[in-house]
Amino acid sequence: MKCPFCEKAETGVKDSRTTNEGSIVRRRRYCGKCGGRFTTFERIQTRELVVVKRSGAKRPFDRTKIEKSIATALRKRSFSQKQIGEINDRIILELESDNTREITTRKIGKLIMKELVKIDPVAYIRFASVYKDFTNIEDFTRFISKLQKD
Ligand SMILES: [Zn+2]
Repeated sequence: MKCPFCEKAETGVKDSRTTNEGSIVRRRRYCGKCGGRFTTFERIQTRELVVVKRSGAKRPFDRTKIEKSIATALRKRSFSQKQIGEINDRIILELESDNTREITTRKIGKLIMKELVKIDPVAYIRFASVYKDFTNIEDFTRFISKLQKD
């Protein structure tokens, strides 16, 4: 937890106690650099995320669907289930730390592409061809040549 006074990245915990019948953990923290003291509260994420499809239809958020999309894109690309799980966790963490309850499929697609482009260009192209819904070969070649330029 970053110090709110001097912005030092690491601070220590002086003591932790649960409040509200155990559903909230209160931690008193201190900063070893500037001596600042502050308190944090930790609670369970109860916000239910909702996915908004392109059609406008809403569905409850399903984390296994993202993992399946990643696994499909990475099929036969020598990535372990563990690595796929880690990518999935990073994407979900980013979605959960966003301050909105509704997430568009477009946003999820973008986050998946952002992860895939870093690790495997073939998987990235596979995923993008589905996500961007290329309807003809021109769209596809335009996409590939843009990718090569970048
Ligand atoms: Zn500090």
